[in-house]
Amino acid sequence: MKIVTVGTGMAAAEFVQQLRLGGFEDEIVMLSDEPHTPYSPCVIPYLLAGEPPNNVFWKGRDFYERYRVTAHLNDKVVEIDREQAQLRSASGRVENYDKLFFAAGSRSWFPRPEWLDIEGVFGFKTLSDMQGIDRYIGEQAVQQAVVIGGGFIGLDAALALRHRGLQVSLVHCHDRLLERMTDADGGRFATDKLMQRSGIAFHMSAEVDSLDSRNGQLHSVRLQGGTAIEAPLLIIATGFKPNSAILNGGEGGIAVGDDLLADPRVLVAGDVAVTRHAIDGPAGVYATAPNAIAQARVAAANILGGNERYAGSLNANVLRKHLDFPVVSAGLFEGEAVTFTNDRLFRRVYLQDGRIHGYILVGDTRLAGYIYNLYVSREPVAAHIAGVLADMRGESYYRSLMDLAPAAISC
Ligand SMILES: Cc1cc2nc3c(=O)[nH]c(=O)nc-3n(C[C@H](O)[C@H](O)[C@H](O)COP(=O)(O)OP(=O)(O)OC[C@H]3O[C@@H](n4cnc5c(N)ncnc54)[C@H](O)[C@@H]3O)c2cc1C
Repeated sequence: MKIVTVGTGMAAAEFVQQLRLGGFEDEIVMLSDEPHTPYSPCVIPYLLAGEPPNNVFWKGRDFYERYRVTAHLNDKVVEIDREQAQLRSASGRVENYDKLFFAAGSRSWFPRPEWLDIEGVFGFKTLSDMQGIDRYIGEQAVQQAVVIGGGFIGLDAALALRHRGLQVSLVHCHDRLLERMTDADGGRFATDKLMQRSGIAFHMSAEVDSLDSRNGQLHSVRLQGGTAIEAPLLIIATGFKPNSAILNGGEGGIAVGDDLLADPRVLVAGDVAVTRHAIDGPAGVYATAPNAIAQARVAAANILGGNERYAGSLNANVLRKHLDFPVVSAGLFEGEAVTFTNDRLFRRVYLQDGRIHGYILVGDTRLAGYIYNLYVSREPVAAHIAGVLADMRGESYYRSLMDLAPAAISC
């Protein structure tokens, strides 16, 4: 059986490794529009901050040799003929497959793509983006940077640049940061803390109107209303779109069932897959590394003869790189809110039918593992969750392991 993967990203690398470890001996071909050995995008913010490049090539630099893969890099797949079980790449290569593992991930979405033609303007998605930014900072001795986008990735980029010693301005179109990862109160709390402690200059409820360049290089970023921020570096982190069009013609991802099949010969995983939610959220693209890896493992197990079902995705997020007050959240922010907050932290769970439906933790993560377990186990918690949230020493988790009621904890 010949297997071809579209992509060499996190899902595809996990899939191929699992196949080989599981004894799959037949031909594997991987195609990527990037030039790299499989790498982890999660590590890119650490590299941008100037930290050592540990774990970038998370499956080893010798991945293709070790797992006996024929890799065609820098060669974008441009057409997939599902009837003929055949794909074609930009270089004209034609590959037939018995099974296709489609894991093309997502790409940055830019409100004004033409801005990328200006020297000093970058996206923040790939290792090549990061290497370009790093080289430019070094060559131009960059001291000031602007980031557009106050979501998870924009903040990751801004905090990394700040950690590296640059003066950083962040422009965000909403009045609070992380608005998809938090509710209004949690987002406000996180925003206030970031404003006080990150050293980043925030421009909230603001939009970029235009870029001023000199000799083709960025000089300043002009906001609507006229404010100009002088900086030779701009990172645009305004969202992603799944790379689904070459498989189904659309931009909304590819819907799959718990077998992760789009058709009997095509498996789909990672940031391009629309899967069901593991608890009680809607189906969607849940673009995190743990979801991509879990999907890849189920797909590989089934190629190896198993009959596994994907248990669904979680929208769990953790912002903690270069930050001394992490932001953790999961689930949906609907239902009865139970909150504990003080000047240092904010903890809130949303209950439905007495069970956790979503949660937000800002300021410390001592309870994160415990709340996560309560969330995924669907345990009824209404009677004691207020006590758990107010538990400053984080002892409730250990007491629960010993079967002591969390309500018995004194704070
Ligand atoms: C800066 C950053 C930080 C992140 N931090 C975290 C984090 O802390 N925690 C977390 O859980 N997640 C994080 N993520 C998200 C995580 O990296 C992704 O969810 C994960 O990489 C998804 O795996 P994937 O294989 O679907 O996509 P990717 O890893 O993006 O791989 C997609 C692959 O498809 C290739 N490709 C695309 N189109 C084509 C084509 N037409 N032809 C050939 N090849 C193609 C690409 O070149 C790439 O090899 C982060 C992402 C970024 C960008």
